[in-house]
Amino acid sequence: MATGFLRPTQRVVDCQALYHNVAEEIKLLPQGTELFAVVKANGYGHGAVKVAEIAKKAGATGFCVSILDEALELREAGFTEPILVLGVVEPCYLTVAVEHNIAVTAASLSWLQYASQLLQEDRIGQLTIHLKIDTGMGRLGLRTAEEISEVVRFLSDHSEFELEGVFTHFAKADSKDTDYFKKQNNRFAQALALLPNDIRYVHTANSATALWHEQNNCNLIRFGAAMYGLNPSGRELAAPFDLKQAMTLETEVVHIKQLPANESISYGATYTTTQEEWIATLPIGYADGLTRDFQGFTVLVGDKLVPIVGRVCMDQCMVRLNGPVPLGEKVIIFGNQDDQANDFQVGAEYIGTINYEIPCMLSERVPLVYVNEQLTAEE
Ligand SMILES: *Cc1c(COP(=O)(O)O)cnc(C)c1O
Repeated sequence: MATGFLRPTQRVVDCQALYHNVAEEIKLLPQGTELFAVVKANGYGHGAVKVAEIAKKAGATGFCVSILDEALELREAGFTEPILVLGVVEPCYLTVAVEHNIAVTAASLSWLQYASQLLQEDRIGQLTIHLKIDTGMGRLGLRTAEEISEVVRFLSDHSEFELEGVFTHFAKADSKDTDYFKKQNNRFAQALALLPNDIRYVHTANSATALWHEQNNCNLIRFGAAMYGLNPSGRELAAPFDLKQAMTLETEVVHIKQLPANESISYGATYTTTQEEWIATLPIGYADGLTRDFQGFTVLVGDKLVPIVGRVCMDQCMVRLNGPVPLGEKVIIFGNQDDQANDFQVGAEYIGTINYEIPCMLSERVPLVYVNEQLTAEE
């Protein structure tokens, strides 16, 4: 895919913000608790390798990804830290995991049995696994005491697996209502009682759990959204430290005109000027991840918030200015300053989704540009 380096539309990532979010979280962790940076989906769109570098400098001791290819990307970039694949890896690819010392999630006895056959046939050595317990997320993992005991028996007979971790995932750790969290937490404690007590990593916490809950029995957190400065609860809960949104989405005005009243803008002619209006064209559209739902969303042109008018096209969209601006005027589609009314949270609310989704859906066509790369430890 051609990335648009020769176009002014950019995903600008503030490295110091990433560093700050990780370092502040680490300050809150009990002694001996590690932080793995979650860099799946290209680091929630921020660039997995760069985010991993910065997180490591801030004190992260390992990484989580969703798919095996993402783990390989980190190994190829030279990271030697532990990496855990959170999704299910098809057993036929496990040689790759063993070769590159990548830990994978074991979520069922049948997967282990199948994996065991292939590992024994290939004689490739031990596979590192983290056992997933489904305490109420309903996505992956062992659910009952019987299943857990069966797996424990199976693993004690199968030295091709090294049980390095056990974990679960919370469905409602980002809520004021803690009942469901407590139910899952209790189930996890019951599961732990059935497992060997010398497992290296015991972990439950995503960002929300790390920010808002005590984690007993655990020695690792899986830190994702909050590292990027996204509040996992949206606006429901305040974070214990200042989360700094790392990314801004920027572009420039590439065309401008004054229209008389009664002229229409873009496909479907859904917007018609009501008076003389200044209309600017921006080189960003739904192929860049700015979906058509953003029609009407307000973006910053210079220091003025102005609306996107008419339909968002594949590669371009139009905004109604308050008056003329020069070509090349800077536009911030999603900003990261506290006083800007167009951060990812505002964008997410506008289209009825969560802040996580916005940076994830921005396209690879929009180049990633890193600023504030000289990281400084903060007091
Ligand atoms: C994505 C993911 C995380 C990170 O969640 P955040 O809310 O982004 O911190 C942690 N654990 C699992 C299993 C995940 O899939």
